[in-house]
Amino acid sequence: MIIIIKKNADEMQVENLKTLLASKGIEPHVSKGSLQTLIGCVGDVSHLDPGLIEALDVVESVQRIQEPYKAANRKFHPDDSVIDCGGVKVGGGSFSVIAGPCSVESEEQMVCVARAVKAAGASMLRGGAFKPRTSPYSFQGLGAEGLRLLSLAKRETGLPVVTELMDFKDFDLFEDVDVIQIGARNMQNFNLLKEVGSHTKKPVLLKRGMSATLQELLMSAEYVMASGNPNVILCERGIRTFETALRNTLDLGVVPLLHRLSHLPVLVDPSHATGYAHMVEPVSVAAAAIGADGLIVEVHNDPPHARCDGAQSQTPEMFARMMEKIHRVRGALA
Ligand code: PEP
Ligand code: MN
Repeated sequence: MIIIIKKNADEMQVENLKTLLASKGIEPHVSKGSLQTLIGCVGDVSHLDPGLIEALDVVESVQRIQEPYKAANRKFHPDDSVIDCGGVKVGGGSFSVIAGPCSVESEEQMVCVARAVKAAGASMLRGGAFKPRTSPYSFQGLGAEGLRLLSLAKRETGLPVVTELMDFKDFDLFEDVDVIQIGARNMQNFNLLKEVGSHTKKPVLLKRGMSATLQELLMSAEYVMASGNPNVILCERGIRTFETALRNTLDLGVVPLLHRLSHLPVLVDPSHATGYAHMVEPVSVAAAAIGADGLIVEVHNDPPHARCDGAQSQTPEMFARMMEKIHRVRGALA
């Protein structure tokens, strides 16, 4: 962090600022130019509030030279992180596809979809048991019964399961779950992030909030990692913009940028990003081409009768065709 001192600043005030910095464990290095005086801060500035320093009378402005995230930062961890999800390795050049219905509805649905997506090449199964719905009158998920059905489909197919945790009080039910999803609406539920960071080492699939910046997404990953769980997978699932033609606006360019900023794997969710089943294939192909580490896709055996997100759910046939295409695209780019 560099502090730029106001012109004609009082010497005493500069000395007071140096004392303040030193009291916070920071070594202040003053460089006096003919036009400007700067203080370079050496040491751990993560506990220093730049806004507070900037508000001081003597300070012109404050410039951060390092990102506020450390554990998620590629600077301190140059190699890609590879996250073990119940035996499936996510990141580091592989392409992992998580597929399944938006919400777990019945044994027949889960087993049928799990078998179909496995046959088409999916490496993990998704399905929501606890659903974050905009309306309290919409289907809220089967809860504990949904988790039981996910376990059953896992036993049938051997696919590791991914499902959303909305409230940490339900965590004990997640014993057989391989990856804990933190949904877009909970990306900044800091208490929940600290709980999944400190109570488990299970991988956390962290979805980007609808209006979250990349720095906010990385700071949320930081919450989980700084609390003790390094196993975080990021997910771009579309953000809110002025455009209403699609459910969300897929911010695909963040994939290479996140890879540059962080060592964590990055998945793309083409289903929530677009809201339409026919858009899922082209967007997924683009995600594969731009270098995403995989996808999380909604697939339903009977989309018109799905209890949640039917319009964006692929049929197993659509999913199988898409997987073939992704395979060809990845082959062409290799
Ligand atoms: C989901 O994956 O079913 C979901 C609700 O996603 P998001 O949190 O991205 O809206
Ligand atoms: Mn959904």
